[in-house]
Amino acid sequence: MTDPLHVGATIGILGGGQLGRMLSVAASRLGLRTHIFEPGANPPAADVAHRVTTASYDDAAALTAFGRSVDVITYEFENIPTSALDLLEALAPIHPGRQALATSQDRLTEKTFLQRLGLQTAPFADIAAMADLTAAIARIGTPAILKTRRMGYDGKGQARIMGPDDAAAALADIEGAPAILEGFIDFSHEVSVIGARATDGSVACYDPGENLHEAGILRTTTVPARLTPALRTDAVLIAAKILNALDYVGVMGVELFVTPQGLIVNEFAPRVHNSGHWTQNGCIICQFEQHIRAIAGWPLGDGMRHADVVMENLIGEDVNRVPDLAKTGAAIHLYGKSGVKPGRKMGHVNRIVKRA
Ligand code: AMP
Repeated sequence: MTDPLHVGATIGILGGGQLGRMLSVAASRLGLRTHIFEPGANPPAADVAHRVTTASYDDAAALTAFGRSVDVITYEFENIPTSALDLLEALAPIHPGRQALATSQDRLTEKTFLQRLGLQTAPFADIAAMADLTAAIARIGTPAILKTRRMGYDGKGQARIMGPDDAAAALADIEGAPAILEGFIDFSHEVSVIGARATDGSVACYDPGENLHEAGILRTTTVPARLTPALRTDAVLIAAKILNALDYVGVMGVELFVTPQGLIVNEFAPRVHNSGHWTQNGCIICQFEQHIRAIAGWPLGDGMRHADVVMENLIGEDVNRVPDLAKTGAAIHLYGKSGVKPGRKMGHVNRIVKRA
């Protein structure tokens, strides 16, 4: 175990989007600084970070200078090139570690890992070519979803297959990229658990939230989720099992389908998660502070939920509703993005529905 970070230490964050921004705010409240590494100009996190490096992930000199300037490295997205990680790993500890990243970067590795842990997943098959897809459809049946193994997010890189006749079009849709076929899960609703694990192996999970997606993008998270007490316990145990198996340090988001056969794991994200934004106003210690505490080697904080909350994402033109939302009791969180685009996450609001 490494020594806890001292006040004034610097956390390097790969990625300067809204998650990097909210991590920076949490770090600064704990007396820690952040240094953002981000290829794009004027990232949301730049407004609130101590330092920003604007460079690409193949700029070895910039990565080296960044790595030497920080005490620990974390990230806000999971698709960081391996070459950048190889270089950075020699300069500062990276949390969460490489195993968590490698597992979650590839849907085939991820599903295989989850099944080996004894967790329920959708039936799946490795698809490298048309012959694999034909065989997989015969075995798994339809409807099914073809998903690229890598780089998918917010429902991108996915094609629905309603019957064997859709196979060729689905493969063309994802441009023949290495993929998995997943059997379609008939779920009643989707929930997620935000869990944290500290360097000493202690684990704390937030109460599961219920997620509603529109066009593949998270629309709202509601806590508490509709779950029986037994399923609520299962959800938290599933997250803890994944955290332990990966010897994980930091916050993770685990997405689950609720079915009559119990909880089925969809995927996990080795980072703070959009469906955990409600914790900013529903808990004393939010997911961002919890992540900073974990990677800084501090004890985890109190993640007990003190209110029923609905988190709503402000997507694209939704941000124009802010003047009206400001007149309500909602807590407004904006990401400082200037250009409004359809599907772009501009901010979110947390409404306290009932105090516990
Ligand atoms: P993903 O990118 O894997 O998180 O998928 C995005 C969304 O597609 C999920 O939140 C679900 O609503 C839906 N989805 C993904 N996989 C499945 C599946 N095997 N069965 C049914 N719905 C799915």
